[in-house]
Amino acid sequence: MAVDTMVREEAVMVEPAPDPREMRKFADRNGILILAHSYQDGHIQDAAHFVGDSLELAREAVEVKASRICFCGVHFMAETAKILNPESHVFMPDLKAGCSLAEGCDAKDLARYQAHLKGKLGRDDLVTICYINCTAAVKALSDIVCTSGNALEAVNSVPRGTPILFVPDVHLGGWVKENTDREIYLWNATCVVHELFSVDTLRALKKEHPDAQILAHPECPKNIRDEADFVRGTAGMLRIVTANKGKTYIVATEGNMVHRFKTEAPENTYIAAPGPSCACNLCPHMQRNTPEKLWYSLRTGRYEVFVDDAVAVNARKALERMLAVRVAR
Ligand code: SF4
Repeated sequence: MAVDTMVREEAVMVEPAPDPREMRKFADRNGILILAHSYQDGHIQDAAHFVGDSLELAREAVEVKASRICFCGVHFMAETAKILNPESHVFMPDLKAGCSLAEGCDAKDLARYQAHLKGKLGRDDLVTICYINCTAAVKALSDIVCTSGNALEAVNSVPRGTPILFVPDVHLGGWVKENTDREIYLWNATCVVHELFSVDTLRALKKEHPDAQILAHPECPKNIRDEADFVRGTAGMLRIVTANKGKTYIVATEGNMVHRFKTEAPENTYIAAPGPSCACNLCPHMQRNTPEKLWYSLRTGRYEVFVDDAVAVNARKALERMLAVRVAR
């Protein structure tokens, strides 16, 4: 759909969104499954049938076999749901919800770099592992997809002695490198949200709440990870907070994750680590999806997500390898 048409349609998305339960009932009546990422607005999370991280949502998308999926997240996630459910009508509230990591790794550039690295190493057996935050075209050029929840296991599943190219997140790749002895080469893209947390702010919060524990996402730079008590993907963070009561956590990841923590482990106190200015811990791409746009999307089935068939075949193989990787608890 042309962007100007979308802009015109956005202008008519003025109908206020009903209560989350009403939206879910509407979806039920119309055979629509609503999947939402944990970084979505709380109203959207409450309307969803299932809330999860990228790995959980990919698994859910495979298991549920819904004919209509409204995906509340960013574009690469909806693409993933479409690849895993080629027969389904997958749509999302805003097609322009992107991701700085996905934008930071162009498939043509990756193909060129793979060829360059193979030549430089004098080896054809380079294995490319891509973090799920990338386009379908990049997944199609990769051997295995991973998430923050299974990146280390994905790397360790590669036979010893085989060089690995990890794309696109330089910080997640750096964290994996710190935790394995495999030979890893890194791409250099970053998440605009996780890159902005500051050590000074974390230390100030810790001073104010000396008993609090800091949870940091591995997409954070090393100086932030080094301040943390736990470095975990969103699912790993959730396991920690649901296993505890009466604790205080300073959370260095996208700000809406706190809504999920409060829903699933309300007995703890959560402090969202702020960015350098007030709202910078919210992903601007995720925030493109609003409750009003979700409501519009449910009523119209827009905006549909398509993936080229040839790309989807190869990307699906890499995704299936991700789903097969066992995650250490
Ligand atoms: S939080 Fe970062 S990695 Fe996640 S969608 Fe937003 S820009 Fe991408």
